[in-house]
Amino acid sequence: MSDSQTTRVMEQAAGNPFQNALAQLDAVADVMGLDDGIRAELRTCQHELTVNFPVQMDSGTRRMFKGYRCQHNNALGPYKGGIRYHPDVSLDEVKALAMWMTWKCSVVGLPYGGGKGGIIVNPKELSVTELESMTRRYASEISPIIGPWKDVPAPDVNTTGQIMAWIMDTYSREQGNLTPGVITGKPLSLFGSEGRFEATGRGILYVGQEACPYKGMPLDGATVAVQGFGNAGTVAACLLETAGARVVAASDTSGGIYNAKGIDAGALTRFKREGGRVAESGVGDAITNAELLTLPVDVLVPAAFEGQITEKNAGDVKARIILEAANGPISPEADEILNDAGAFIVPDILASSGGVIVSYFEWVQNINGMYWDEEEVNQRLHKIITKSFRRVTEVAEQRRLPMRKAAYVVAVQRVVDAIEARGIYP
Ligand code: GLU
Repeated sequence: MSDSQTTRVMEQAAGNPFQNALAQLDAVADVMGLDDGIRAELRTCQHELTVNFPVQMDSGTRRMFKGYRCQHNNALGPYKGGIRYHPDVSLDEVKALAMWMTWKCSVVGLPYGGGKGGIIVNPKELSVTELESMTRRYASEISPIIGPWKDVPAPDVNTTGQIMAWIMDTYSREQGNLTPGVITGKPLSLFGSEGRFEATGRGILYVGQEACPYKGMPLDGATVAVQGFGNAGTVAACLLETAGARVVAASDTSGGIYNAKGIDAGALTRFKREGGRVAESGVGDAITNAELLTLPVDVLVPAAFEGQITEKNAGDVKARIILEAANGPISPEADEILNDAGAFIVPDILASSGGVIVSYFEWVQNINGMYWDEEEVNQRLHKIITKSFRRVTEVAEQRRLPMRKAAYVVAVQRVVDAIEARGIYP
């Protein structure tokens, strides 16, 4: 079985991502004693838009594409969340990711709700012209429901700054007004923010710098395995290495490599950015994505997709600290197994929040028309993410909860307070 097939089978085994998102919410709603009406509201996406549209292919033929934009909740502010291009995108996946964005923005105190979008496509099979046409048409299809004070998309799996630039341009032309704040993750040449590209990976570093000492383990010298050597994974690996950690394993869709002596994360990142695949890098022994998850390492960084650690492999995970850089990499059943085994999991909504935190800075800069240097961006990111980490550990200690539940208590409570303050209209 190929590695991507393995991933898909594991994903199915892990269940439907939206069902997992609901199970996580229900578990915390019980702990909080949430009112049934509010619980029902939070279990639902406020809007689920499906768009079907044609694109003119280079061959001259028309091809139909299906995309989504789901808006989970906007009690705290405009919906916020990325757009992903992947052949496995589904409505339930986008709904789950939208709900997770609500909690992610809430737990770190951003003035945003949660949304997510996606197109069912393998973008690597498209030419640049086809990619641009598909992106612009999708942007046009969702344009009635996005906007700086409505819903602010951003990059996610397989979407780039260039794609954000096309969406901003399409939206601005349709509105007849330049609107940089409609989307974040734009290139620096087009109203982007310093530090945005590295932000998710940098957030992982800052969270690791808190989590390791908290668990009495120095980050300096800790061994790290990174599943998913994409944007977040490469940056996290390089920064953790600079902080003294030893990156011993990495993987992408081609498979992975393991070298107990350590991998040069910077060199592997350059190899990857030049179009290389991790399995072909030759810097360690070949392993599968599944094997990477069960290596004897101190810190595991799942930075690929949801549903990677399930009840089937959770018992084999040896890492003491898990920093979730991907959204939803651990199923609810696996979560329990890992918690019982004493693993310290920094949940996705907190660990991977660096990206959306700096997206917020980008939006603030766009609205104000004033731009910050990288040092200022990184300092502000550090302040927000460490403060949020400490707040979640406090709640975890006070209420004797694992980190995920504690993070959800903080996140859900903030949304509930806003819903109650708003009341029901009319
Ligand atoms: N796609 C990223 C995430 O899942 C970033 C979202 C954003 O910046 O709005 O957190």
